[in-house]
Amino acid sequence: MNATPAYDPDNIFAKILRGEIPCHKVYEDDDFIAFMDVMPQTPGHTLVLPKAPCRNLLDAPPQVLSRILPLVQRLAQAVKTAMGAEGITISQFNEHAGGQTVFHLHIHIIPRHEDQPMKHHARGFAPKEELEANAAKIRAAIG
Ligand code: 5GP
Repeated sequence: MNATPAYDPDNIFAKILRGEIPCHKVYEDDDFIAFMDVMPQTPGHTLVLPKAPCRNLLDAPPQVLSRILPLVQRLAQAVKTAMGAEGITISQFNEHAGGQTVFHLHIHIIPRHEDQPMKHHARGFAPKEELEANAAKIRAAIG
């Protein structure tokens, strides 16, 4: 049997959740947080995370999974509005073989425009000013 490895509390998103590393936050409540991906695949690329220590979809409890998708829907609508996007790509990776690079559950919200290709996953930092400007637009669209 291939068990999901244990949660590593030193992963980079755990450090963001503890406030040890900054982020461009767009949303937070008692149980979830959303912030800009520092290596956006398109401008406005946003990540949604539970605060609970889940490694990925494979070990997340049902009460996290059942609550995160309505929030992803709400934030995806705000991202779409804020970025003037025509579509949204949602992605989520599990384990190294599945493309996961940070081992705290997160869902990617990637705004899309017709004929605009996505950049490679997790490659190429965006300037901080651009990330903060997009975060401000998305915060405003969440209301
Ligand atoms: P995964 O491959 O695990 O699905 O996605 C991890 C994502 O986190 C990647 O898209 C990558 O660009 C992003 N990322 C990696 N390090 C950081 C960081 O320190 N801060 C933020 N905000 N995003 C990060």
